[in-house]
Amino acid sequence: MRVVLLGAPGAGKGTQGERLVKKYSFPHISTGEIFRAAIKEGTPLGKQAKEYMDKGALVPDSLVVGIVSERLQQPDCQEGFLLDGFPRTVGQAEALDEVLSGKGTPLNAVISVDADQGELLERLTGRRVCKTCGATYHIRFNQPQVRNVCDKCGGELYQRADDTVETVKQRLDVYCRQTEPLITYYQKKNLLFSVDGSKEIAAVFAEIISKLEGEKPA
Ligand code: ADP
Ligand code: AMP
Repeated sequence: MRVVLLGAPGAGKGTQGERLVKKYSFPHISTGEIFRAAIKEGTPLGKQAKEYMDKGALVPDSLVVGIVSERLQQPDCQEGFLLDGFPRTVGQAEALDEVLSGKGTPLNAVISVDADQGELLERLTGRRVCKTCGATYHIRFNQPQVRNVCDKCGGELYQRADDTVETVKQRLDVYCRQTEPLITYYQKKNLLFSVDGSKEIAAVFAEIISKLEGEKPA
């Protein structure tokens, strides 16, 4: 199954992605995670991406598209994949279509995780992420068993540099201007499934599964 998770920052893409890859055993490709790993390693890609990420802006399509195209050629993506945070512009979506149609393996579904704007700010400023494995928590909504310690690997939790109030506002604005048009883009292709991301994590997951396993796009 080839699936895209679409949604505003904080809608719950990463959280649902963690659960989906456990169920379907396909690779979870998060462009944000790829950039954060590159920043941690101090690579030239990381240095370039950081400039944009710190401001809450999008990394240019010319950088992102090549990285995802290469990733999709890897053996573990041939039976399916979950894209999280990509595409984020119409240009990226068109490039993705081109790559996949060249391989004869088009997308099966795009899940749009819809959440209330007011809630997104609280979710993002309270988000904590594991330094070691990248698992996502929240100080109120999804707490680890031991404060600041990852349940999955024991790693230390941290707050992302771009999860401050100022940068979050900028990222939400960028989402509305540059990414939201993808909802119509995928609706027209009859690939879009909308889920209510304001429900509890388990309820959102159940809705995604029911949409993926049989219902018609809505
Ligand atoms: P995204 O990947 O879309 O930016 P995340 O999955 O990282 O969003 O979720 C953002 C924050 O909101 C995290 O702290 C996460 O634990 C929390 N969260 C995710 N889904 C829900 C939900 N349905 N209800 C409450 N909090 C949630
Ligand atoms: P995320 O982890 O998805 O919240 O992404 C964090 C940041 O990485 C974004 O605010 C962008 O600066 C950058 N980024 C991630 N994915 C993309 C993408 N597909 N296109 C452009 N920039 C991206």
